Parts: sequence; structure tokens; C-alpha cells
Amino acid sequence: MDTKSLASLATDSDYDPNSMPVAKAREYIRAFLTPVAAVERLHLRAALGRVLAGEVLSTMNVPANDNSAMDGYAVRATDLQGEAEIPLTVVGSAFAGKPFECIVGAGHAVRIMTGGVMPAGADTVVMQERVRTEGERVFVPANQPKGQNVRYAGDDIKQDAQVFASGQILRPAELGMIASLGIGEVSVYRKLRVAFFSTGDELVSIGGLLGAGQIYDSNRYTIYGMLSRLGVETIDMGSIRDDPGLIEQAFEQAARAADVVITSGGVSVGEADFVKQILGRLGEVLFWKIAMKPGRPLAYGKIGSAHFFGLPGNPVSAMVTFYQFVREALLVLMGVPNPPPLPMLKAVCTTAIKKAPGRTEFQRGILSTDEAGQWTVRVTGNQGSAILSSMSQANCFIVLPDEQGNTPAGATVDVQVLEGLI
Ligand code: AMP
Ligand code: MG
Repeated sequence: MDTKSLASLATDSDYDPNSMPVAKAREYIRAFLTPVAAVERLHLRAALGRVLAGEVLSTMNVPANDNSAMDGYAVRATDLQGEAEIPLTVVGSAFAGKPFECIVGAGHAVRIMTGGVMPAGADTVVMQERVRTEGERVFVPANQPKGQNVRYAGDDIKQDAQVFASGQILRPAELGMIASLGIGEVSVYRKLRVAFFSTGDELVSIGGLLGAGQIYDSNRYTIYGMLSRLGVETIDMGSIRDDPGLIEQAFEQAARAADVVITSGGVSVGEADFVKQILGRLGEVLFWKIAMKPGRPLAYGKIGSAHFFGLPGNPVSAMVTFYQFVREALLVLMGVPNPPPLPMLKAVCTTAIKKAPGRTEFQRGILSTDEAGQWTVRVTGNQGSAILSSMSQANCFIVLPDEQGNTPAGATVDVQVLEGLI
């Protein structure tokens, strides 16, 4: 990252750390990300969920031969002129993997199965349901469209084509396509290493006993889960007390061990000051108040060579800020140059929502279809930033933009679908 540029943000005329629009924060974060460069070779199966480092080229056509899309008879379209059904002599068969070796002559047909190679001379396949057979003869209706039910060589992948570019995430379909080319090993970027810890005197890890006013640390579990779904390597560094010495040590250790450091808690007003001083010594970190709800405070920058995201402590805020800022940034760091945004759709909101203009709200919503098959959405209930059950009940965020005020029941709203993400 160009540290000079990070500091130079403050000279942007519209840079206001205390009222940072969501889109602006995304843009700033995006400008300072340096993706991993190291590459490893993996067996195809082991590469599921990884990011391709380098393009995949095809050395062959897929399919390699013209072949049949149906069970039926391979015929010559020129033989099928006329009014009545046409009798043809069945001269052989072509099964998938067992081609017919001779040429189909005039008045001949070859019994063919799906995937069977088109025999020389034939250009058309007639489905078996369309014909009548009598011994060695098959009666085919006249005027079958030439080329019907034939799949051509290269229909799926052309020889010498670029099949995938560098930066492609390998999902099940991509594994299958690469396998269809006979390629068994691919180059992928090494896994991104992400270290995370929680801060707060009130936090107790599972297994410990709760003292007066203490709570169990849940953010380390939601963060672990969100990171694991992205396919990064996680380093859980535990809960750290609000002690400057311990926190400084944790930041140093995390930045040495990982490409990215994520913390939760300690960036809100009142807490940020000593964290600010520590991070000022260790790296270059900006503290923002994002114009959003939930999740106002967010720290972003670099500690040594590690990228740093300081998420708010409230459990819902930590998740919302992760999905709105960190997820996309991590994808870029993993080697995906232009990660697609979370899918957004429009739905009628059946509940009224109170909202003040001037900030983006991410209300937790339940998206479903009504009797007419239309998408409708309702809020999950209590939208407090500590109500983690709202995230569990939700299958979407209802995204209410900055300028939006109160939203009456029946209004159409934007919905970000969480299915498949969490
Ligand atoms: P903070 O951002 O540190 O001011 O914390 C805001 C709120 O989130 C407080 O109520 C904290 O107790 C709570 N909180 C902070 N960290 C965690 C955590 N790791 N798990 C659950 N709650 C947390
Ligand atoms: Mg705290």
C-alpha cells in the first residue's frame, strides 16, 4: 500500500472521518488493497473455493466430436424429403464411447444414443419417440429439420479459447469445466491469512466463568464463521483485555502472523483514544464514523504490512460492517479483481420502518414470497445492534439509502440477500 496516499485522504475536499458515506468508505478501502501474489499448484479438487492465479486455456474442443443430444436415429436430412414417412435401413449403432465406424449411405440410418458420436454421412438425429421400427427398418416422418438434436464439437468450450481468467473463483461448475478439458492441476493464489481478536474487559471466552457484568465473547465466533465461509486461513488470537500493553502486543503479533488483522470492539468513542495512540505508533490507521446504522465506528488502515479492519464491538454491527466493507476487501486481497457486489433485489416491505435521513440503514429482514409469488420482506423485530438473534432470523438486509426517511408499509425497498453467504 502507498502509505503516503492513505494519509493524503485527509486532503480530499469531501473527506470527513466523522461522517463517512458507506460508498465513500468502500471506495477508499478499495484504493489501498494489495492482493496476495504467492501462487501454489493444487490438485483440482483441492482448489475448490480458491482463486485462479493465471488463465486456463483449452487445448481441445469440448465436446471433442459432433454427437447426439437424444436417443434415436442418425440420418441424412436429404433422405427425408417428401410427404409420407420414409423407410430407412438400420445399418449399425453408435453408443456413447462406441462410435459407428462406417459411413451412413443413402437410405441408411444408425441407431444412436445420447452422447454417441455422429457417424460420417449423417447430419440429423430423429428422436426414437418420433419413429416406428419394423425389424431392420425404421420409418421416419418426412422433413425433419437438418441438424436437429446434434451437439457440435466445441459447443461448450472451443479449442484455444481462454476458458477462465486469473482471479476466477473456482466453484463446482468451474472444477467440472476444467476437468472436462482433462486438466488435473491448477495454479491458485495462496490462502489469505487473517488474524482476529476481540477487545474488552467484559469479555470471557467459552469455558471461563462469567464475573459480575461480564459476557461471553460471541464476535470471535461470528467473525470466524464469516471468514471461514470466504475460504481464508484464520488465526484466532482470543479476547484481549482493555490494557494498552496487551493490546499493543496483540496487534504486533497479529500483524506479523497475517496478511489481514481484524478486531472487534475498542473503536467507539471513549475507547478509541488509547487504541488510536497504539495504532499511531504501529502503523497508519484511520478512524471513521460511517453514516450507517448499525455499525457507525470503523477503523481501517495498515499495521506494518498487514491490512487492518477495526470493527465495532456490538455483535450485529460487527457482522454488518464485515459484510459491507470487509468481505469485498478480502476478496480483492484473495486475488479477485472485481468481486461482484452482494445480490440486490427489490421487494415490497410489509412493515413500516422509522428512519432518519442522512445515513444508510441495514435492517435485518425476512424475505419470502406472498400468495401471488411476489417477493415481500418484513423486519425481524428488535433492530438493536446487540440483538444477534436478528441476524439469525434474517435472510436479508433491507438497505435503506442515505436520503430515505420513514418508509410506510407497502413501499418497495432494496434487499441484499444473505443466503449463501451465511
Ligand atoms: P465497544 O465497541 O468495545 O464499545 O463495544 C460495544 C458493545 O459490544 C459493548 O456492549 C460490548 O460489551 C459489546 N461487545 C464488544 N465485543 C464483544 C464481543 N467480542 N462479543 C460480544 N459482545 C461484544
Ligand atoms: Mg470495548
